[in-house]
Amino acid sequence: MRNITIHDPSMLTVIIGLVFVALLILTMPLRPRMWVYPLARQAAQIKVNYESRDMSVYETEHFKIKYTQADADTVDMIAEAAEAAYIPVTHELNYAPQSKTLILVQPNKNELRQAFGWSGNESAMGVYWGGSIQLLSPHAWLNNGATVEDFIHSGPMVHEYTHLVFDYLTNGNYPRWFTEGLAQYIEYRVNDYEWQTATNKLDGKLYTMAELDGNFDNLPNQSLAYRQSLAAVRYIAEVYGDDELREIINTLKAGQSMDKAIQKTLGIDYATFAHSWQQWAVIHMNSHTQKH
Ligand SMILES: [Zn+2]
Repeated sequence: MRNITIHDPSMLTVIIGLVFVALLILTMPLRPRMWVYPLARQAAQIKVNYESRDMSVYETEHFKIKYTQADADTVDMIAEAAEAAYIPVTHELNYAPQSKTLILVQPNKNELRQAFGWSGNESAMGVYWGGSIQLLSPHAWLNNGATVEDFIHSGPMVHEYTHLVFDYLTNGNYPRWFTEGLAQYIEYRVNDYEWQTATNKLDGKLYTMAELDGNFDNLPNQSLAYRQSLAAVRYIAEVYGDDELREIINTLKAGQSMDKAIQKTLGIDYATFAHSWQQWAVIHMNSHTQKH
């Protein structure tokens, strides 16, 4: 048997490194995807930071806001709304990111679209992606004469910041509908805001859980997909309780799937869950209901 002698110290370092990584993967309690996810998110942030290197910077206690000169007059308001979102969102999710959150203020829809390579009909005021938040300049959508309060209540900060905190908490282990439902639920709780349209009433034909789970972004009636997501999360929180909602989030954090988290926490299978929240929503969500 030949002995392998390693003379090159850098090679030795590489081998020790590989063994270490292998041991880490083997002893990992979470799914590998959840372990790789923070690295991918960090890489995305480095890219976003680099691409925005020429933008101006405004820092608050928990946020680093980058903006162009077109938004020099809105950055104070954005900073105030961001800090106003910090306490309710971190309190609801019982978690706070360790470092400051990067917010990029894009001057118009084209810039926002380019930042994400969107193709379609996005009309969003903000987007969460890859560890940072991108906002559309309030100049593009907020009425003249609107106050900071208007921006806080009708703007995207609570919604997008919920996506961000939840993503850090669970390392990406969630279906899209659940993070949309959660972001809207916290908006509903904090700002009493609900996205209701003529085509998203919950008393007609609804998307199935399989459609929401597998194809959320491509469902033709997006306002209905969002409304259903809110209904499913509100059903959990209002029928079972906020503790159960947190328990589901913790189960996702521990690497379990959505249907396992539902089953374990609520004691019902996924099909029963779908049937139950739909019935509940017909009664409780078809007019502008009061906050409980
Ligand atoms: Zn969202």
